[in-house]
Amino acid sequence: MRLLPAAAGSGIVFRRTDLDNFEIPATGRNVAKVSYATSLMRQGVLISTTEHLLSAFIGMGVDNVIVEIDNLELPILDGSALPYVEAFARVGIREQRRRRETLRILQPVEVREGEKFIAVYPGGGYRISYTIDFPAPIGHERTCVDLAAEMYGTEIAPARTFGYKADERKLREMGLIRGASPESTIILGEKGPVNGPLRFPDEYVRHKVLDLIGDLALAGRRLEGHVVAMRAGHAMHTALVARLLKDRSAWELAHVPVAPPEATSEAQAETDSGVAQAALAGA
Ligand SMILES: [Zn+2]
Repeated sequence: MRLLPAAAGSGIVFRRTDLDNFEIPATGRNVAKVSYATSLMRQGVLISTTEHLLSAFIGMGVDNVIVEIDNLELPILDGSALPYVEAFARVGIREQRRRRETLRILQPVEVREGEKFIAVYPGGGYRISYTIDFPAPIGHERTCVDLAAEMYGTEIAPARTFGYKADERKLREMGLIRGASPESTIILGEKGPVNGPLRFPDEYVRHKVLDLIGDLALAGRRLEGHVVAMRAGHAMHTALVARLLKDRSAWELAHVPVAPPEATSEAQAETDSGVAQAALAGA
């Protein structure tokens, strides 16, 4: 896989180098089947497990990028988005000559399915409240984050995916966790992880936030609003995107708000024109 700089306004685009550079833009229109991971499909061409890379782009403020890949599945790496964030840091992120747009929520949009719930409400920044309730040993966890606080790289990106040892054979037979291994997944036994310590005491719910950010990237812009998710997963996340894109009265495209009043005059002058879009600096 290779990440390339892209022109302002071009968004996030996947390119299958093994299929004549066929391109699949990361938008809600191209969401394919959603089970244990999120996949994109256009004209029968698939890209699977997109959520961790998309999460890293949104979390670190990369608006425009081309993702070249020579097969259908993105690498699982260590099961988190940290390797991507570190790779961005190595090449740098460059500001571009165009203002960044957000998808500003104007009216609540809710999706409920039994005990599962996800919604987005109007509000400043990009706040996420996530509640999970899994069988032991995970149980109940809740976290609230605001991506505007620039904490993604340290607080969310390192959180790894997880799975139950008891489900392992079943999932493998279904072909759902082909890439999963003790190096790429927290494997849960009856009393806790069987492959080493957690990176955070609440690493599971943090990973759900990571996934959510990646899946909501398919709305095409970073959200400006407050997302509330309970017992959700990829299917609920992408259902919210679909509902949102269908309900044109629930949002508007807006420029990122100007800096707070205490900003220096120089900084103020810069932000009066809004926050710039960004692309990866290197090739
Ligand atoms: Zn994940």
